[in-house]
Amino acid sequence: MEQNQDQLLEQLNAFTRRKHTLDEVYLFDLILCDNEIDRDGDCFSDAALAELQKRFVGVTGIFDHNPKSANQTARIFRTELRTFPDRLTKAGKPYRCLAANAYMVRTAGNADLIREIDAGIKKEVSISCACGARICSVCGADHLRKPCKHIKGRSYGGTLCYTTLDQINDVYEWSFVAVPAQRHAGVTKTLGGTPDDAETAILRAAYDDALHLLDRVSDSLRRDVIRLCYRWGENACAKALADSVQHMDTAELLTLRQSLMIGAEPVSAKPQLVPDQRTAQQNTVQAFSCGGQQKRGRGDE
Ligand SMILES: [Zn+2]
Repeated sequence: MEQNQDQLLEQLNAFTRRKHTLDEVYLFDLILCDNEIDRDGDCFSDAALAELQKRFVGVTGIFDHNPKSANQTARIFRTELRTFPDRLTKAGKPYRCLAANAYMVRTAGNADLIREIDAGIKKEVSISCACGARICSVCGADHLRKPCKHIKGRSYGGTLCYTTLDQINDVYEWSFVAVPAQRHAGVTKTLGGTPDDAETAILRAAYDDALHLLDRVSDSLRRDVIRLCYRWGENACAKALADSVQHMDTAELLTLRQSLMIGAEPVSAKPQLVPDQRTAQQNTVQAFSCGGQQKRGRGDE
């Protein structure tokens, strides 16, 4: 991303109604996402990164989902894929990341925010996108279509289990967040430092542990709910319900399990599996809300 400020300004002005000068805008760089396995055990495929590179140009960012910062928006006007052949990911692939240039029009209302970005306080970024495939690294199953039993973070015959996110269908937003999932995403060029004190490290480690535990609980819960779906036999309705279970979050799984257990006493041979509206929902958005799931990251460059 070695472009001088004038070149960047020219590219920026392609997105604005009138020409802005360097005094009027605040420019900053960020890493949106990469191909490293993140805290959720997910990573992007090369094809997904390439698609995200195209789709994120022109996309607006938001800050902390805070209503007070409604007028504090930034926009990406340039993206670039960077490859680091000498740096390998945990999966043993050359590290690649999606970098972006963003701008804000300087106003009285966003002066504090700009100071925070400059100081490295606002540096962690998450993106929201929809992906159409989540591939298991162990068996190649697409979790959105035919889930497998492999658990992310575990090793199977020496192969680490993680999910590769592929087939990007849409991108929604990017935002600064408190705790990102992707370790390397975030603002990369700031005037200040990137403070990362011991307290932050402890909180981050605790967050990692909590996520890992939640993953394991959710996997176990999901298997339990699937078993309940099939308790009256493997009919089409049970299968549809069991399939939808793969896309539910923990809260949805708990609700469904409760409703399945309430109806657990079969009064006739007739299946009583009527999915409620919640279970019929297909969550294809991960953030990454991508698979609509959120991929989040922290800048540490
Ligand atoms: Zn698998």
